[in-house]
Amino acid sequence: MPVTPSRLLLGPGPSPVPPSVLAALAQPTIGHMDPAFMKIMDETRQMLMKVFDTTNELTLAVSGTGSAGAEALMVNLLEPGDTALICVNGVFGGRLADKAGRCGANVVKIEAPWGTVFDQEALIEKIKEVKPNLFAIVHAETSTGAHQPLDRLGKAVHDVGGLFVIDCVTSLGGAPVKIDEWGVDAAYSGTQKCLSCPPGLSPVTFSPRAIERIKARKKKVQSWYLDMTFLMNYWTGNRAYHHTAPVNMNVALHEALRLVLEEGLEKRFERHRQTHAYLAEQIKPLGLPFTNQKGHRLPMLNPVAIPAGVDDKQVRARLLNEMNIEIGAGLGDLAGKAWRIGLMGHGSTKQNVDTVVGALKKVLADIPAKT
Ligand code: PLP
Repeated sequence: MPVTPSRLLLGPGPSPVPPSVLAALAQPTIGHMDPAFMKIMDETRQMLMKVFDTTNELTLAVSGTGSAGAEALMVNLLEPGDTALICVNGVFGGRLADKAGRCGANVVKIEAPWGTVFDQEALIEKIKEVKPNLFAIVHAETSTGAHQPLDRLGKAVHDVGGLFVIDCVTSLGGAPVKIDEWGVDAAYSGTQKCLSCPPGLSPVTFSPRAIERIKARKKKVQSWYLDMTFLMNYWTGNRAYHHTAPVNMNVALHEALRLVLEEGLEKRFERHRQTHAYLAEQIKPLGLPFTNQKGHRLPMLNPVAIPAGVDDKQVRARLLNEMNIEIGAGLGDLAGKAWRIGLMGHGSTKQNVDTVVGALKKVLADIPAKT
């Protein structure tokens, strides 16, 4: 049996997985049509609705990682010729634009500098101008650490007859995500960030308006695997076989969600805020400033500037190989310029802040800055 090293996961995900979630994963595999599994699916849906803060019946875990959830939303909600207005201020907004284009949509991008958030007023003006069929935005841009406010956009999108779509891969379970209150029509997430489950499933939710849109499609959804009509049937309808669900992953997600709700969402969000504040305080003496916009910093993903002359790869390699600590590299525009310190879910603790700050201090002291 391959043996994985024991790492402290303080990067952009996966995050540390609690022992009871790993134990849930290792239970005997049962069939994907077993009534015992159906019960686990029902309970998972109910718990996901609480975590998404929604009454949406069409809330379930797509088999596949967060990217599968993103594709599920795009292929079901867009048809060729539709207009998609996509906000791009980092890697994941860019990917959404790519996915919308592959569905045959006319993609209109609105961009903001990496690390910053969009002004909601400016977005509302753009929505009025473009009148998109679908408007999509990333709530927690993991590539930059930008925490996008979303509370004012739903009405503007609905006023022009569009659907409001969000990526909450990194925020779900670590910061408030209010699907119904914000008027979100469809959202996707991942299991491996603030839900602290291994990667492999993508929680999604669709509003009744989004379901209407799917029912009114002129063309079949081009992805058979991600066609929500089939998935809805398997999860909530006549339970017809669609695909062999990754049973053990779903059992693990059930346990991860149970832990999230046992802690309580508000308490969990507060823990993430406090751990972030503690990191901000502790990392100051190291001279590693945050690279994201003040006032809009994610609590679970902290991008810090790499000091001039310091070798990014060498530092991360020493943390990993000598101390078993994983932090994230910069992505896209921030490659080689920033490190990303993830304090997600189970990993969001002051003790982990002390560990990673102590480790960085040691390694940075050992590596003389290049001149
Ligand atoms: N969206 C965001 C904001 C992410 O952070 C990620 C992954 O890091 C994704 C989408 C894609 O998810 P996955 O890598 O699970 O497919």
